[in-house]
Amino acid sequence: MKELSKTAKMDCLKQYMEFEALYSELFKKVNFCGPNCTSKEYSLYFVKKVRGDVGCCSEDHFLTKIDKIHNNLLSEKRIEKYGLPNNQEEPYFDNKKPCAYHTPKGCILEDLKPHVCVAFTCYSFSHGLERGYELAYDYEEIRNNLEAVLNGELSEENIRLSRIRLLKSIEIVEKSTNF
Ligand code: SF4
Ligand code: SF4
Repeated sequence: MKELSKTAKMDCLKQYMEFEALYSELFKKVNFCGPNCTSKEYSLYFVKKVRGDVGCCSEDHFLTKIDKIHNNLLSEKRIEKYGLPNNQEEPYFDNKKPCAYHTPKGCILEDLKPHVCVAFTCYSFSHGLERGYELAYDYEEIRNNLEAVLNGELSEENIRLSRIRLLKSIEIVEKSTNF
């Protein structure tokens, strides 16, 4: 793993945030979570029984899978902008509290989200993307790609191709009336 200069880390973070904004646009256009999960009594999250509004933010997922992220600017900038995680919500089940960035209105982070959160779709969401738009969405691949972008390990060519693929997905969703 090569050590990045602060300037290089900043460039990687900018690229990461461009991808983050595009995934967020894609997910907003698909609009799956609200109507199918977070507005319901129980969430579609498959790992455990979770109150609907908590969705899949049932624990501090931003602390998982960070062992391979060497670009500390992501968390530094997040804390600078949003402060330290500080969830004041009641436990949702069996003394378990939602993620420390969660609020009754959902995730407090509008950007600078951890890569696991930017990429994550549950099985129902992924299946919906495939069924509704014929889009194959591989959560682990996307998460690993975002990790590589942050670490400066994804080549310019792969970044270009990933961006094209993502823009194409957004266009497909925009043009579709399937959902
Ligand atoms: S990804 Fe799945 S579990 Fe998470 S909020 Fe959306 S529908 Fe719910
Ligand atoms: S950081 Fe935001 S999206 Fe990620 S688990 Fe926490 S509340 Fe959910």
